[in-house]
Amino acid sequence: MNDRHKRQSFLGESSEQIIAKAKIGIIGLCGGGSHIAQQAAHIGFQGILACDFDHVEDHNLTRMIGSTPQDAAQAEKKTAVIERLVKSILPTSLIKVIDQPWQERELDFRDCDVIFGCVDSLAVRADIERFCRRYLIPYIDVGMDVYEVADGFAIAGQVITSLPHGPCMKCLSYLTDERLAAEHARYGAAGGRPQVVWPNGVLASIAIGQLMALLTPWNARVKPQFMIEYDGNAPLAEPSRRLEFISGASCPHFDAAGAIGDPFFKVRLTQPVPKLDKA
Ligand SMILES: [Zn+2]
Repeated sequence: MNDRHKRQSFLGESSEQIIAKAKIGIIGLCGGGSHIAQQAAHIGFQGILACDFDHVEDHNLTRMIGSTPQDAAQAEKKTAVIERLVKSILPTSLIKVIDQPWQERELDFRDCDVIFGCVDSLAVRADIERFCRRYLIPYIDVGMDVYEVADGFAIAGQVITSLPHGPCMKCLSYLTDERLAAEHARYGAAGGRPQVVWPNGVLASIAIGQLMALLTPWNARVKPQFMIEYDGNAPLAEPSRRLEFISGASCPHFDAAGAIGDPFFKVRLTQPVPKLDKA
């Protein structure tokens, strides 16, 4: 065993090999995605496909891991910052970056074992989930929000793990026609939504935990949770109770028969995805 891996060897006998062979996609590299990339590199994931079409600005420095004032001054690409961060942690990394909207290069994501979405827009999330269902790729969505309440502000967020054949973001009432329509109506006027570094860090850590539960379950009873909700004021993170209200045996929003996912399951074949409790 590689000495680097020694302290995480409890993840399982084949975990080192699984981590080395897996390819993970990260869409959105600022608040949540920068934490995801950093942790993935520390764990030892060699195969990372990191995508963001934006460049660093001053207002990103409060939450984008790895970004520096010089990056902002030079309007450095976010992909360049993340590539530099990942390679500084893991020089052998095979990270590839895409500095275009992910949709323009979506086929590059087809052989990812898991894809993380760390984006602001509900519509983009819906597109990523649709793509992942089509290719039978587990999708882990990270989102945080700040909203006004009577006595100040509330920080909240969630991590959704949308597995092929499992409940989707619509099943979980996270993506609803009303929310998508409201976002569409706001388009262009919403401005930058509030984001801060520590809830992003909490949520990204939870998301990485979901990835590890998928690929290297270190305890037979640990299974990915379909939705974990985070209350940053409490503070508390726990599996969502929304699942209790899902009726029916399977997700009615995606037709599994229409999926053309093919069998890039190089990692999952060695470590089957745990059976779903509900779905
Ligand atoms: Zn569904």
